[in-house]
Amino acid sequence: MSCIAIYRPGATVTDEKPATIPFPRVHKIREYSAQDEVVERARLVHANRCCQQCGSVAVASIELNDALLNASLQPIPGSATIVAFRCNGCYHEWPVRQ
Ligand SMILES: [Zn+2]
Repeated sequence: MSCIAIYRPGATVTDEKPATIPFPRVHKIREYSAQDEVVERARLVHANRCCQQCGSVAVASIELNDALLNASLQPIPGSATIVAFRCNGCYHEWPVRQ
């Protein structure tokens, strides 16, 4: 618990307790943010960067058509939901595992 000392001009030093007012500690609750979504997506892409069948790194993500749109109504890259991955070497596809 944090304490802040308060100056008291007439206070004597003989008080057993320190002249402070305790304040309850403020617990900052971290909320899920857009940055967390970006990090989560990057981890997902990193975990699926190699094909499970042939080991190729030519892997592309398969995304839903739910990307965010910018002011020109164009989809923002990296904002769509990834549902699967496809290997461009052997055409193997596998779903996203959480
Ligand atoms: Zn492959």
